[in-house]
Amino acid sequence: MTPVLVINSGSSSFKYQLLDMDTERTLASGLVERIGDALGVARHTVYAAPTDGPAAAFLDATRTRELPIADHTAGFGVMLEAFESDGPSLTDSPPGAVGHRVVHGGARFFEPTLITPLVEINIDELAVLAPLHNPANLAGIRAARAAFPDVPHVAVFDTAFHQTLSPAAYTYAIDAEIAASHRIRRYGFHGTSHKFVSDAAAAFLGRPLSELKQIVFHLGNGASVTAIDGGRSIDTSMGFTPLEGLVMGTRSGDIDPAALFHLSRRAGMSIDELDDLVNRRSGLLGLAGSNDLRDIRAAIARGDERAMLGFEVYVHRLRSYAGAYLAQLGGADVISFTAGVGENAPAVRAGALATLGFAGVEIDPVRNEAPERGIRIISTDASAVTVLVVPTDEELEIARQTLGAARP
Ligand code: AMP
Repeated sequence: MTPVLVINSGSSSFKYQLLDMDTERTLASGLVERIGDALGVARHTVYAAPTDGPAAAFLDATRTRELPIADHTAGFGVMLEAFESDGPSLTDSPPGAVGHRVVHGGARFFEPTLITPLVEINIDELAVLAPLHNPANLAGIRAARAAFPDVPHVAVFDTAFHQTLSPAAYTYAIDAEIAASHRIRRYGFHGTSHKFVSDAAAAFLGRPLSELKQIVFHLGNGASVTAIDGGRSIDTSMGFTPLEGLVMGTRSGDIDPAALFHLSRRAGMSIDELDDLVNRRSGLLGLAGSNDLRDIRAAIARGDERAMLGFEVYVHRLRSYAGAYLAQLGGADVISFTAGVGENAPAVRAGALATLGFAGVEIDPVRNEAPERGIRIISTDASAVTVLVVPTDEELEIARQTLGAARP
């Protein structure tokens, strides 16, 4: 068994998953949250080995504890206790490596990277570009390195997959000196998921990755779309931050920046208020009152006009990017949908591709509506472009990359 522990650390919480990389099976997962509050919460789930049937692990047991958790280091103590009491014991079978999700790797990190004190300094320095995320990721790294001092720790960056973008794709058309001195460019995010899904699509179709032109729609609460040529990201909808591009749960996606200047000048809104507006009070939430597409669909069924408009704006943007990326790639072989919305909302998938018949994209309505869960084809047999639903698994991708970087 080769256990790898994956850590996804936020400012007041972290998620973890222990995988056996010989079988790529999840052994345990958990969440430590409300770090720093009067009462924190720790949830630990152990998965039993599947006895028969599909290789998916099935749920064995979850235990939730409430206790004060002062900081990330204390949180790791709580996690270690849970592994000891509920299993699998990390004392008996310590992880061979620990993988860390890090949001921003800037232009410096283009591959999974073994964490050294210098790498920590670099991640810290990149907090200028990701002030909410990188410090939280680093808190997790420091606590994990203290808890597991003798195993390799690897940083896997959300931006890394997009480091193959050409200068034409990543450069904003603003004053070049200002852009360079402040490192203003498109970085792109969700790279771990875009890579996992495009690799999985090629493997599923039994086609070499290097020969495929792919478009991947990662539609969750955050959403982005990437054009992938031969396994390399050539364009992606998120930019300098994860704000740009598609309509999301609470983020506006593309908006004319002059609208924000106008709100500043005319409505007296501060930079922080504008930040809050476009990042946390916009998207589906701002348009229709909920960031959850299930609520939007239910409201549409009741005839709610705000919800209808919200859905139409969401789908209109998807179509615009589908067309743009078909143009950038010179056509596509595969279009995949993933994440909460992409995996579960047939109406979104159908709407996003409805006008692309001219480009050889034909969704099969029955396949699209089928309530299946695994990787599957939803295009017709005659469709020139294969359309897939591909469940994403960012933890597994981080674990794979971690193992690759940790092995000498
Ligand atoms: P994620 O960020 O990938 O976890 O996606 C979360 C989002 O997926 C939720 O906010 C919902 O909008 C959406 N979602 C999850 N389940 C469904 C579903 N069954 N139908 C439609 N949307 C869903």
